[in-house]
Amino acid sequence: MTHELSPLPYPMDALQPHISKETLEYHHGKHHQTYVTNLNQQIANTEFENTSLEDIVRKSSGGLFNNAAQVWNHNFYWQCLSPDGGGTPSGTLLVAINARWGAFDAFKTAFARSGAGNFGSGWTWLVKKSDGTLDIVNTANAATPLTGQDKPLLTCDVWEHAYYVDYRNARAKYIEAFWNLVDWSFVAKRFQ
Ligand code: MN
Repeated sequence: MTHELSPLPYPMDALQPHISKETLEYHHGKHHQTYVTNLNQQIANTEFENTSLEDIVRKSSGGLFNNAAQVWNHNFYWQCLSPDGGGTPSGTLLVAINARWGAFDAFKTAFARSGAGNFGSGWTWLVKKSDGTLDIVNTANAATPLTGQDKPLLTCDVWEHAYYVDYRNARAKYIEAFWNLVDWSFVAKRFQ
């Protein structure tokens, strides 16, 4: 089984001015593609040759885990963004956010602080815990909530390759712009 690079759900220039076409050309076309290429090379002639991506992420380790998890994390990240994104969540998702953080703005502040403080390369996630409540978690490098009990609802890629072209070292500015792109309808569907 050969894994394919999932196409972006929007054109390369659709997230401008918040995320540039150049960033997406590198981030999707080079970085994400490389994880897919490495994944295919590393499963050849192994027990994982015909295993689904999610199962590889859950069962592998080392370099194979890193590449498989990065493929899955990026697939998920692209779906969290939309040219029609931004604004505020509604319905039961907003109720759950308010229950955990008091207000939507307080959630955004906590998420942004978590992302800015995620040392080195990694991901910042909004997750639904097994008791149904929400939380913010950071993962390092390729690590992903998929291997644990938390259900990922939203992620922000805080690897430098996600923002260096557009914001240089200013990760906080990238996270600020990220809010203009979040597809809350996707997050709400995951929350259901
Ligand atoms: Mn990335």
